[in-house]
Amino acid sequence: MGLTQLTNRIYFLEHDPEADRPMLAYLKGDKFSLAINAGYSASHVQDFYRAIAAEQLDKPDFTVITHWHYDHTFGMHAISGISIAHDKTNAFLKNQQALAENPGYIESLKKEDAYFRKEYCGQKQLNIALSDISFSDNITLDLGGITAQIFHTVSPHATDTVCVYVPEEKALFLGDATSEDFFNHGYMDTNKLHSLMQTIRTIDCRHCMLSHCEPLGREDLLAYLQSLYS
Ligand SMILES: [Zn+2]
Repeated sequence: MGLTQLTNRIYFLEHDPEADRPMLAYLKGDKFSLAINAGYSASHVQDFYRAIAAEQLDKPDFTVITHWHYDHTFGMHAISGISIAHDKTNAFLKNQQALAENPGYIESLKKEDAYFRKEYCGQKQLNIALSDISFSDNITLDLGGITAQIFHTVSPHATDTVCVYVPEEKALFLGDATSEDFFNHGYMDTNKLHSLMQTIRTIDCRHCMLSHCEPLGREDLLAYLQSLYS
């Protein structure tokens, strides 16, 4: 699978519903490049980097994480360059590291999740990394001709949710922010969702990028969310 070009400076490797692999994005600045999310595993990272190389692009200088869930973070040990995550994301990942010291942990994840079983088929160990750079509220990267405004936000999906807004390309990367909380029996906190929708309304964006969806226009996304949970 190759990269899809969204705008002049934004590319992405599409999500793969068959493997439950999230979309991974690549922002090409004049000075630096930034990937959004590390991916499910070392093999997911390799597939992404192969697609990047096929476009004659360089491996990312930075990789930012949208939240701690394993399909976005367990590839972090295999990335090239510097990783960036929220303090809370690192706290969750530290907890995952401790759990993974028990060899039964990877087996229990395989048992619970058929996609995880497929992704980690034949593997007996997890390699869970924390990020190189950690932040508590927001951090902005000037990539050269393009800016990544990385910020923590309220979301019904995870308490460490981080979004990335690229004003020059009018693109907003939301990770899984608009989904329910799978670690709380799929609970949808509608107050948090409405707060997030309000945030989205204030951002001047044309492209809303969710990790497990096709790209959406802002009004389409808001209308969809409104129809589900109003
Ligand atoms: Zn998630």
